[in-house]
This record gives sequence, structure tokens and C-alpha cells, in this order.
Amino acid sequence: MTKTIVGVASALGYAGVAIIRLSGDKAAQIAKKLCKDKKLSFNSKSSHLMQRCKIYTPSFVDDGYVCFFAAPNSFTGEDVVEIFCHGGNKIAPKIMEHCIALGAVASEAGEFSKRSFANGRMTLDQAEGIINAIHAESDAQLAAANVLMQGQFAKQINSYQDTLQTILAGIDMLIDFGEDGAEEQEQSILDAAKTNLKIIYEDIQKTLNTARTGRLIKSGADVVIAGRPNSGKSSLLNAMTKSDCAIVTDIAGTTRDFVKASILHNGQKLNLCDTCGLRVTTDTVENIAVARTKEAIQVADLLIYLIDASVPITNDDLTNIQTYKNSNLIVVLNKIDLEQQLDTKLLTDFVTISVSANTNRGIDELKNLILKKIDMQVFDNSAVILTNSRHTKLLSDANINIKEAIDGIDFLPLDALSCILQTAYNHLGNITGKTGSDDIISQIFSQFCVGK
Ligand code: GDP
Repeated sequence: MTKTIVGVASALGYAGVAIIRLSGDKAAQIAKKLCKDKKLSFNSKSSHLMQRCKIYTPSFVDDGYVCFFAAPNSFTGEDVVEIFCHGGNKIAPKIMEHCIALGAVASEAGEFSKRSFANGRMTLDQAEGIINAIHAESDAQLAAANVLMQGQFAKQINSYQDTLQTILAGIDMLIDFGEDGAEEQEQSILDAAKTNLKIIYEDIQKTLNTARTGRLIKSGADVVIAGRPNSGKSSLLNAMTKSDCAIVTDIAGTTRDFVKASILHNGQKLNLCDTCGLRVTTDTVENIAVARTKEAIQVADLLIYLIDASVPITNDDLTNIQTYKNSNLIVVLNKIDLEQQLDTKLLTDFVTISVSANTNRGIDELKNLILKKIDMQVFDNSAVILTNSRHTKLLSDANINIKEAIDGIDFLPLDALSCILQTAYNHLGNITGKTGSDDIISQIFSQFCVGK
């Protein structure tokens, strides 16, 4: 008999309604004691139906609803009762406390989902899709999580595993035949295997190519704003974030530490970083800041190099943009609200855009251009995009084995071939949880919130 667990499934805080979830064999029994109403029924006929009730605790009585979900047709696959009470910071925890007094055990983080996985209600990657969806900040993150949640990735992985299983069965048969097997039959089985392995390999490779986009969706694209002192970098950060997060002055060299802020634009997350002005100086602190800026530029997904267009372009600017020409670079000409002194003919080799950080002119256009330059303008939000590094690693490992099998199929001993393909099969299975250790599974579910 599994322990009956209880957790607050909704977030605490001021809200109309909160939800407490019970799961396990004693869920109905505990709910009956909690509501003290003989008319409430908890059986297959009343499954999934909301019933009005009073909720009794030693210190107060609440008005709410209970909903019983009979096993196996519930989130966890066990008997589940959801109790809908009033929101706030005290009511739901008090009711949960009383459920514990009536025989339930406080759930651990992710324990409901872990039970759901253990009872075959969802795969491991679907569970990870749920975590991603709960934590999503941008539309793009939600869309990618949704594809996982809906089981599209698991379906893809299962189909690869089915093909590998058929190939493995063929190889096993050849091993069993041993020397007595007809050579012709062996060749035709191996040829078919090779063709199918190539198809899977290409398909996995296509999915692996989405990992860069997936990383940008998950963590946001890192955009560094650099340029000479007083070109308006801090003003641009403020204009792009519509806030006052960076200090703006006409005193050169004010920004030393990075000022970072994230924004959402057209459903995508951008991590902006205002840096110290690039100049040669004898100031020790500023020199450290300049060195750090150069490091940040190297690892950024995109560099905005800001130039003050109200003064003639300096040699430093020209040198700097030449230096970073091979980075993903946008040269932004700022202060277009002032009279223009800049000779744009010098910038014909660069992607440029004109803005005024002070009047906000061109700021939205700049954001659109950033998405275009990092290739995040449009993406197919119904396709699998690898946002979890765990999935990328396992898929990549599986494909290394598949490639090894394709390359060696004509000369490797059959048992070695079988062993390589079995390893690929296991890597794929670790994605969905069909194979894999309990430790990894526990570690994944521990990232969930309590009550989920
Ligand atoms: P940073 O040193 O590159 O970070 O530059 P700041 O953002 O501190 O700005 C330096 C000076 O330029 C400040 O006086 C700003 O008000 C001014 N400034 C920044 N952007 C613009 C702009 O678009 N138009 C005008 N007219 N002034 C600006």
C-alpha cells in the first residue's frame, strides 16, 4: 500500500481559490473525515465531479469543493482528491496540516508527478515539459514546453526505439543462425538495417540542430551593448527595458560593473548587458572593466556596438567595429534626435540601424533586428526544439552509436553491432524514462515544486 500524500497544488498568496491535492489509497477516506458530510460520494460514479462541501479544521471551517478522481484515471494514476478552498497564505496550509493529522503524509517536491510517471501516466520528458511550462517566462519557452508535454518528442523517441528493436531482433536471429545462415539473407537483413539506421541518424541530426535555438529559447539570447564612453549605452539599456536600471550621466566612465536586464520581445527572451565604455585609460578599475567587457563580447550571442552619430566617427570606433566584424554584430547609430555628424559611407560593410535612446525612435526596430540577426524571428512552435540539455546529450550520444553502427555494419562482428545498437537504444530510453536509473529519475522530479 502506498502512502497517501498531500500537498498544496496552487501557489500561496492572495487569491480567490487554492487547491490541495491528496493522492493514494486513503485519499477518499481522509477527504470524508475532513468534510464530515455523509452525502459526499467518492466512487467511480462521482469521479471527476465537483461536490460542494464544508472543510473542517480544528481552528476554522471553510466553504469549498471537493473533486474525486478514481484510479487509474487521475493525474497520478492513484485515487486523487482535490480540495478547492479559499486562497491566501494561511487557509490551504492549515487544511493540509489537518489532512496530515488525518493520516496523509506531506508530499515531497515532484512526488505527484513521480507517481504519475511510475504509473505510466506520462513519460519522463513529458514531466520535464510540465516543469518547463510552469517555469516559462516567454511565449517561445511555453510553446517548446508544450511540444514536450503533449508527448510529441516521446513519440519520436519511441519510433526510433521501435526501429532499433526490429534491427536488433534481425541481428539476434543472424547470431542464432550462426555459420548455418544463408549469406544472402544476412546481407539483405544488414542492408535493410543500414538504410533504416541512416534514416534515423538524419532525423536525429535534424533535431540536434535545434539545440542552439532551444538554448536561446530556454535561457534567452545574450546581447552585449558596447561602445565608447558616452555613446549612450546605459541610455539604450534603459530605453530597451523601459526602465531606469542603468545610471545615465554625461561623465565618461560611469559604468564599471555590468548592468544586466532581461526583456521579452515578440515572445522571445533577450538578456541585455550594458558594459563599460571601451577606451584606453590609466584607471586600474576601469581597465579591469574594459577587459571584462571584451570577454563578454566574445561569448555573447550578439553584439550591439553603439556609436554617437551626433559627432564625427572616431578612429577608436572604426577599429573596434573592424575587430568585432566577425561577431554577430549590429552597429547602432545613436542620438539621431541631434544633428548628424557621422559619415555613414564608412559603415557600408556593416549592418546598421539608427536610434535615439532619448526619444525611443528606432528602439522597436532595433529589437526586431536583433531577433532577425540571432535567427529567432520565427520558429515552428509545433516542432520539437531541444531546450533541455539532458535530452540533447542523450540524443547526441545515441546518434554517435548509430553512426558507429552504420560505419561498421559491413565488417563488425554481429555481437559487437548488437551491443552498439543496444547502447543507442538505452540512451534513447533514458530520455523518456523507459530505461535509466532511479537516481536520475528522482533527481529530475526533485526539480518540481511541492504539490506538483
Ligand atoms: P554611456 O556612457 O555610453 O552609457 O552613455 P549614457 O547613456 O550615460 O549617455 C551619455 C550622455 O548621452 C547622457 O548625457 C545622455 O543623456 C546622452 N544621450 C544618450 N542617448 C542619447 C540620445 O539618443 N539623444 C541625445 N540627445 N542624448 C543622448
